[in-house]
Amino acid sequence: MVDLHTHTTASDGTYSPEQSVKRAKQKGLQALAITDHDTVGGVREAIVAGQKWGVEIIPGIEISSVHEGQDIHVLGYFVDYEDTRFLNRLTELRNVRNKRNQMMIAKFNELGIKIDLEEVQQKSKMPGGSIGRPHFAEALIDKGIVATMKEAFDVYLGQTGKAYVNPPRLTPQEAIYLIKDAGGVPVLAHPGIYDNEELVEQLLRNGLVGIEVYHPDHRPEQEEYFAALAVKYSVIQTAGSDFHGERNGVIFHGDLGSKSTGYETVSQLQQASKEIRLNR
Ligand code: AMP
Ligand code: ZN
Ligand code: FE
Ligand code: FE
Repeated sequence: MVDLHTHTTASDGTYSPEQSVKRAKQKGLQALAITDHDTVGGVREAIVAGQKWGVEIIPGIEISSVHEGQDIHVLGYFVDYEDTRFLNRLTELRNVRNKRNQMMIAKFNELGIKIDLEEVQQKSKMPGGSIGRPHFAEALIDKGIVATMKEAFDVYLGQTGKAYVNPPRLTPQEAIYLIKDAGGVPVLAHPGIYDNEELVEQLLRNGLVGIEVYHPDHRPEQEEYFAALAVKYSVIQTAGSDFHGERNGVIFHGDLGSKSTGYETVSQLQQASKEIRLNR
């Protein structure tokens, strides 16, 4: 079995790449994709650990894009994680992310909540890592402003939260091109949480090569719906737990391996990457 969606300390996961690989081995996984937000900073360590523990590592990414004010995540598999141009573009994306983070800090300060970017950055365990809202949530818990991760997102950080801002970023379409330019296979992450089937089909017609059918936040009928959609558009069906480790003793999304698929999906993604590279 393989898990194609996991986060490490390179972004907002709490397991280091090596710890993630170890857990994958314990769960009996044959392959594991490392898909951190806007960074491939955890891939190399995972590959080294994978050689040690006998787990195949798929170099991946999860790119945050925005469509009409809504976050849309695009996964990329078998990206060229050492390509300088790709790495430079990811640095730009993290700079945009940091600007958004700075805007959220300003909102907190307007609300009379004293918090600065350094306190948030201290929650990141990897230098140069991708800083996101779970790091904000941890800092808020530390400061006693909220008691739980859920409260942090419900009251402040989620789409209807008081400190939420979402300035424009690259579009989902641009994220698809960015991944293909890096030789990667673009797959739409957790389509079930967007509540926008029109956009999903539009992207399926415009460059997506796969869709994440199986995800902890999908209901069974959604998985059926997206599996049928994948057949309709002849794209690859993937599965992933979206593992982020534990925070405050709670696993958000799912545990490593809680959503998985067979090894043939890895072969399909690898083949698709070869074709994308030939057509570059
Ligand atoms: P960001 O990348 O900064 O936009 O943060 C998005 C991340 O926040 C996602 O990867 C989710 O895993 C995480 N997240 C969203 N809602 C919650 C929640 N209620 N509790 C914990 N984590 C959440
Ligand atoms: Zn995340
Ligand atoms: Fe996501
Ligand atoms: Fe994710």
